[in-house]
Amino acid sequence: MLVQTRLHPRICVIGAGAAGLAAAKELKRAGLPFDCYDLRDRVGGIWAYTEQPGVTSAWRTLNMNSPRGTYEFRDFPMPADYPDYPQHTQVYAYFDAGGRALWAKAAPPAWLRRQPG
Ligand SMILES: Cc1cc2nc3c(=O)[nH]c(=O)nc-3n(C[C@H](O)[C@H](O)[C@H](O)COP(=O)(O)OP(=O)(O)OC[C@H]3O[C@@H](n4cnc5c(N)ncnc54)[C@H](O)[C@@H]3O)c2cc1C
Repeated sequence: MLVQTRLHPRICVIGAGAAGLAAAKELKRAGLPFDCYDLRDRVGGIWAYTEQPGVTSAWRTLNMNSPRGTYEFRDFPMPADYPDYPQHTQVYAYFDAGGRALWAKAAPPAWLRRQPG
């Protein structure tokens, strides 16, 4: 495990979509302090459905076009009852649960903060 020193300053992850969550998860695993910021007030990026203009997201009837096994964290599989090609609501629920279960207590004071401004 890496030890925090002046050589390991606090790290900033921009975005809490799939990529940001993966980064946060690995930073936590490595024991590195971080904060994660997102413009939105929820995780999941495009999988967090919204009709808000100017925000890119899944559309109402979207299913994944890649199989679930290729889109899950190795140590945090999607629920067994998910179909092979989950609906966007299920993908969002997966990331939301993952964020809560795996990273909620990561680097204090908060792992996800709304970006000011
Ligand atoms: C309609 C659609 C369907 C898709 N279907 C599939 C699929 O079936 N399988 C597949 O593998 N991939 C699919 N993709 C690709 C998908 O984009 C990626 O799988 C993945 O969700 C991308 O994650 P990400 O974290 O890189 O980006 P995003 O999901 O876009 O998340 C980026 C996050 O960063 C935040 N952000 C952006 N700018 C800032 C800023 N300046 N400050 C703070 N926060 C910021 C955003 O609010 C957002 O939450 C699809 C994409 C789309 C658009």
